[in-house]
Order: sequence, then structure tokens, then C-alpha cells
Amino acid sequence: MPAIIDGKATAARCNEETARDIAALQTQGITPGLAVVLLGEHPASQAYVRSKDKTCRELGMHSRKLELPASTTQEDLLRLIAELNADPSIHGILVQSPCPPHIDESSVVRAIDPRKDVDGFHPLNVAALAMEDPSALVPCTPLGCLELLRAHGIATAGARAVVVGRSLIVGKPMALLLVAKGTDATVTIAHSRTSDLAAVTREADIVISAIGRPKFLRAEHIREGAVVIDVGINRIDDPADARGYRLVGDVDFEAVAPKCRAITPVPGGVGPMTIAMLMRNTVRACRVLRGEK
Ligand code: NAP
Repeated sequence: MPAIIDGKATAARCNEETARDIAALQTQGITPGLAVVLLGEHPASQAYVRSKDKTCRELGMHSRKLELPASTTQEDLLRLIAELNADPSIHGILVQSPCPPHIDESSVVRAIDPRKDVDGFHPLNVAALAMEDPSALVPCTPLGCLELLRAHGIATAGARAVVVGRSLIVGKPMALLLVAKGTDATVTIAHSRTSDLAAVTREADIVISAIGRPKFLRAEHIREGAVVIDVGINRIDDPADARGYRLVGDVDFEAVAPKCRAITPVPGGVGPMTIAMLMRNTVRACRVLRGEK
């Protein structure tokens, strides 16, 4: 039987630690603050933003949820970011993706003060991660995946890891974290042009999938005894569900789990960890902005 890696429970433990850190800062008169900006009414994004706001409040953090119309101009958005950069009650800023098509997300990310870039998408933070600079703010989802491996005693040193997906949000930073000194995995990054993906992933002790295709990785992709971290969140129609759909990962859980040493479920795996790492990043950003190491 595989171990099911319980992201909800792990995230709850991380959040308890973060709540203690926040309480300690509050004794010095400081409350870490996170601003989340959402443009438009994308239902999944609204749900993510609600969840981030709720977790902030539960942990005792100051939360500003800024819901703006989809018609907001680039200029207005940049003006808002400049205000948040200058606001001493805000230590973390994120703009929920995807933005409406008229917004240039790359220049929006560059406008965020890198010290408040709790998503870790600013070029200075990307470079700092690549340089293994400990001051880097690291993207929350790959950070959450690494934390899941650590919390479940899964050794990475010398392990062969295959990351499927090369996005800036998940795949690339995941590979950088895994290959960094101290984590020491031997890393392969696969993508849509990889030939014979199954032969590549079957080599892996650890497979991390961030593709965005429902149940794409099947039993033939995974070798006996591998650890599988499924980042994918995909909606599939399900008339039996009251919502008419359900969420599944990139991995065909039923087919793959029996072969695994350990595997994350979807939902309840990586998802809760992403929010827990966002909270942790915001507290770190708060400390750095106050001049602490
Ligand atoms: P993305 O930007 O669309 O990137 C997807 C990556 O998968 C691309 O690099 C793509 O390759 C690769 N890919 C697509 N089809 C493939 C195939 N058939 N074989 C091999 N590789 C393939 O997506 P993302 O933002 O990284 O997100 C990936 C998934 O993770 C989505 O389901 C998303 O919802 C989920 N996600 C979850 C969380 C969480 O908190 N759990 C956070 C972020 C994202 P190319 O580069 O060649 O196109």
C-alpha cells in the first residue's frame, strides 16, 4: 500500500508554525500584511483569492483583498502596485493569475518591490533562486512540494527526480530547488516536446508532475516504488457531483498509486501547501523588510 502524502495535514502544521511566528511579531507591534489583487471574475481565481484571504485572517495576518473590474487598465494596476509597494502595513503583494489579456503580466510582476514579491516571480527572485541565494523569495507551489518531501522523510540527495512541466510558476523553480546544494537530486525536466515521456519518467525515484492534463500520467509512466507529487489541478465533468465537475490531478491516481512508495492526492495534496508557503513567504518578507535576516 502506498503512503498517501496528506497535504492538508502538513499544511496545517506549517500554518501553526506561521501563526506562532505572527504572534511573536505582534508582541513587537508588527502584523505581517498580504495584499492580493484580482482582476475580473474568473471563478477559480476568485476561489483561490478567498482561500488566501481566509487563511491570512485565521493565522492573525493583515489581509487586503483587492477585487478590481476586468476593465482595469495597466496604468491603474501599476499605480495600485506602487501604492502597495509604499504601504508599510503590506509586506507581501501578489496579482492573481491569469490577468485579462490586455494586461502585460510580466511588467506587472517587475513593478512589485522584489522584497514584497511573495509569489517569487520577480526576475531578481528568479535569479536569486538560481544562484542559491538564501534571500530569494521562492514560488509557493514548488516550495510546498519540497516541504511535502521533507515532511514525509523522502530523501532527495542522490535521488533521480523528473519534473514534468517547465513553467516559470512550477516546473523550472521546482527543478532548481531539487538540484540545489542541500537537496542534491539529479534532475531532468520534461515537457510537451520530450520524446518517449514514459521512458523518462520511469527512470525517476521522484516524479513531480505540473502539466495541467487530467490523469495524463498512467501506470506505465511510473516505476515500482517511486514517489509521485501531483501538482495538476484539472476539472473534469462529473454529473454525479453537485457542481457538475470534480478536480483531478495530472496523475491517474487509481492506476498509479498501487505502484508508488508515496503519492499526493488531488485535491488535498499540493494545493493546501501552496497557500501555507504563501503565508510563510509573507512572514519572511515582513522580517526582511524590518531588517531581520
Ligand atoms: P503551464 O504553464 O500550462 O505549463 C504546463 C507545462 O506542462 C508546460 O511546460 C508544458 O510543456 C507541459 N506539458 C503540457 N502537455 C504535456 C505533455 N503532453 N507532456 C509533457 N509535458 C506537457 O501550467 P502550470 O502553471 O505550470 O500548471 C500546471 C498544472 O499545475 C495545472 O493543472 C495547474 O492548475 C496546476 N497548478 C497547481 C497549483 C497548486 O497549488 N496545486 C499551483 C500552480 C499550478 P511546454 O512548455 O512544451 O508547452
